[in-house]
Amino acid sequence: MNRQNIEDEARRLQFEIWHKRDLLFPLGAPSPIAMCKPEVAVRVIDLQITYPDDLGTFRSGSELYSVAGTLDRRRGIISLSTRFGERAMRFTGAHEIGHYMLHEGETFHRDRPLSPSGDEGHGRHTKEQEADYFAACFLAPRRLTTEAFAARFGPPPLVLDDNIAYFLKGQKADELMRAATGSLDFAAAVAGARSFAGRPFPSLADKFGLSIGAMALRLHELGLVVS
Ligand SMILES: [Zn+2]
Repeated sequence: MNRQNIEDEARRLQFEIWHKRDLLFPLGAPSPIAMCKPEVAVRVIDLQITYPDDLGTFRSGSELYSVAGTLDRRRGIISLSTRFGERAMRFTGAHEIGHYMLHEGETFHRDRPLSPSGDEGHGRHTKEQEADYFAACFLAPRRLTTEAFAARFGPPPLVLDDNIAYFLKGQKADELMRAATGSLDFAAAVAGARSFAGRPFPSLADKFGLSIGAMALRLHELGLVVS
């Protein structure tokens, strides 16, 4: 499945939420970003989410992982372990919805805690990468992300140079300039920045409720940052 198809599926789900917003939010619809939540999405695709304290462990190769989330297609239930904190649960929830939307053959699926960084991405199974990409497209939609980015950093893309590094990191600008080619360090600095050129704002990671790593990868995917 190519990336465009995956993004289209995420947009289809967002459109359905938008379309049903009066029913979903009888007291008034929240902001578009606040609508892009797993707990909202499951209501339009007729799944349920449960939040157990613990989902047990599973072995992958020689390592034992705590299970962060599961999708039980037959029962129509996504379970998210509360051990992993709000942002991780949010991403895992969207990832499980991705499996539900994209991978019909998956009847029961278990996930370790997800850390969608560029480095780990290469080692992950194709279906896992697809579900991660779905989650990113759903939680940080292209247009809303681009708008929120432009409101903070000006028209994209933001290209790393000495000045930009200084605006982001101040005295630590050198660290950013020394980061390895192809690393997500610059994207992460932008994702987590709470000010730019002296102007404060909520970071993009905070605004979209993503970890800095997940937000950085999304900025990179959308071509908003160039280092
Ligand atoms: Zn998965």
